[in-house]
Amino acid sequence: MTPGLHPTLPKALIALCAFALASASFGVAHADDQKPGFFKKLFGGGSKTETPAPAPEPEKKPAAKPKPEPEKTATKKPTSSKPPRVIITTTGGKKVEIGKKSTPSKTTAKTATPKPAPKEEPVKDVTRSASRDNDSPMKGEFKELDDDKTPSAEASKSVEVLPANGGWEIVKIGGRDYVTAESIRNFYNPVYGFTTFRIQGTHFWLGSSKLILKAQIGSQEMLINNIKFILSFPVAEHNGKVLFSRLDLCKLIDPVLYPSHIQNAEFFDTVVVDAGHGGHDAGARGVYGYEKDFALKMSMAVRAALIQRGFKVILTRSTDTFITLGGRVAIANQTPKSIFLSFHFNSGGAAATGIETWALTPQSAAATISRGGGYNVNGVTGNKQDSANIALATAVHASVISRFKFVDRGIKRAQWSVLTGCKRPGILFEGGFVTNGAECQLVASETYRQQVSAAIGDAVLNYRKALESAMMGKR
Ligand SMILES: [Zn+2]
Repeated sequence: MTPGLHPTLPKALIALCAFALASASFGVAHADDQKPGFFKKLFGGGSKTETPAPAPEPEKKPAAKPKPEPEKTATKKPTSSKPPRVIITTTGGKKVEIGKKSTPSKTTAKTATPKPAPKEEPVKDVTRSASRDNDSPMKGEFKELDDDKTPSAEASKSVEVLPANGGWEIVKIGGRDYVTAESIRNFYNPVYGFTTFRIQGTHFWLGSSKLILKAQIGSQEMLINNIKFILSFPVAEHNGKVLFSRLDLCKLIDPVLYPSHIQNAEFFDTVVVDAGHGGHDAGARGVYGYEKDFALKMSMAVRAALIQRGFKVILTRSTDTFITLGGRVAIANQTPKSIFLSFHFNSGGAAATGIETWALTPQSAAATISRGGGYNVNGVTGNKQDSANIALATAVHASVISRFKFVDRGIKRAQWSVLTGCKRPGILFEGGFVTNGAECQLVASETYRQQVSAAIGDAVLNYRKALESAMMGKR
């Protein structure tokens, strides 16, 4: 179904994201119905909580971990009544060196596997400006890139600065559209009242009392209020201007910064809670038990937390049984007025730790990791919920990260099978590494699971509240 647009939707951005710049009308910005403080709420913001030391559980037999099987179900591209002037091209991602902040694990390297793979190279060397505004400097958290890894060390394929359209400054690099950070600041300024806009070396800061966005040229990592997001394309630069891909603007930055105007937002009162694996599929073998068992226990705790908060809950499994990935998706799709939360635990080297949350890869972007389904060429069923997916991921991830002392591995992209075919807003949450002794000890603790479940329950409430005005009239 294609619900009508909300009357107060920011026309300029819709036009931009519908690839019809000609009709963009910049300056009207967002309606002033933005609820103050919603952003902090959406992102959690609770104080750090200490968790008790759990009693270890007995070790069990190892089992093979299933591989994700991306499904290719074609969906329609966004359409517009106006002829498109600029089209986002389907160029593959590439491996980038990132400034690691809090992820000691080696598995954090971002490897993208493009399918059509037209080669793309970063923007050519440009003079970087120092601080733009006379605002107070903010503390940097990214490490400097090595000289030989900066984008400036490589030559650009082609750079074309398009005339400003509807207030958006667009720079086309190697066929891909980027928007300047200035455009983004100007567009969201009525909502956030930015006081800081700063570029120093490769580091970029955009800040106000409500929001601090940090990014680094050449990196796919972006922090918003210290929550880590993995962009689909590295931040670029041209003529001293910091550039974000248009796809990341439309598919990540906008729904996260402005969730109350997400299109297609549907009211929900039910949560489909999916415990990963089960039966002969044990999932990862942890130090104190199997992923399938922890996922089931976690799901039961989340169920209780959600019921306590007034939601109806459907479990894809409530016992140690095997359900196909398609079967899980079918349950979500058959449940009206619902969202979908899939719970898993991670495996890796003994040192790997942290929380990560997955949202479906947008069309024309690559997965964050090589085994994440690669490049999403044609779009899949779940892409209908792109904006809701990333907002839900943000709400859940931020709520957990802000309350517990976990390594933040970020909000990432992949075409996991339970997400590709899902018609409801959905995410896959990896609640820690069971292959790490200390983290598995936590996961094995009932108290810990209850605390994380409470954070997730609050996140679902916050998500619904953040999208409330977008959901109006759809009950
Ligand atoms: Zn799993």
